Amino acid sequence: MTVVLTEAPADLGPTDPLDMLVVAPHPDDAELGMGGTIAKMISLGWRVGVLDLTTGEPTPHGSESLRRSETNRASEALKLTWRGNAGLENRRLLHTLETREVVASYFRVLRPKWVFAPYWQDAHPDHVAATDLIEAARFWAKLSKTDMPGEPFHPERVFYYYCIHLRLAIQPSWIVDISDHWDAKLASISAYESQFITGRDTQPPTILDRLRDEASNWGRLINRRYGEPFATKEPLALSSLESVL
Ligand SMILES: [Zn+2]
Repeated sequence: MTVVLTEAPADLGPTDPLDMLVVAPHPDDAELGMGGTIAKMISLGWRVGVLDLTTGEPTPHGSESLRRSETNRASEALKLTWRGNAGLENRRLLHTLETREVVASYFRVLRPKWVFAPYWQDAHPDHVAATDLIEAARFWAKLSKTDMPGEPFHPERVFYYYCIHLRLAIQPSWIVDISDHWDAKLASISAYESQFITGRDTQPPTILDRLRDEASNWGRLINRRYGEPFATKEPLALSSLESVL
């Protein structure tokens, strides 16, 4: 699997619809927020993609080429079905008609059943803009009589993962048991050396220790080793009570 960088949606070849598309403001947000759930669903045979909206650069220890190779390594750790980068501008991400069309075009071409967006409350303006943009693009993707590529398409659901820069006491809608996929999540995050290892304090708790503590806390709430929280604005529909722990 290779990362498709800044390839326009119209240039993407025909592909089977994705089960899930995680849309991330920056490469590493999808891994931080829901790397365990991504790995879990892929292990169950689901087709899961990640669309990074920007390169995430510049950062203090990163560069575009370094971040790209790190993103490749992270994608391999999760065994992603597809990954792409929309080529929008880092630090200047805005919801405009143009950016809405770009994201809607990816939805029309990739046809994900469900879309995952960052949680709507955050301190990082790119994240807040991304959530707004993804929600609007989901609606925009179903328009007919447009010059967007692909056919009109409406992802059935939009759900929200937590990758936030505020110390919120969050109340998630549900928590996924990721106990068997923590190692894959940790490997995917550790791939971003320039973000989480280089120049970081090596005294415990390191940033990776903190992430483990968090996952452990969510796991504790569902009586499992590790968990990952999610939010939904619309009620969550269950086909039965079988998968409730
Ligand atoms: Zn981010």
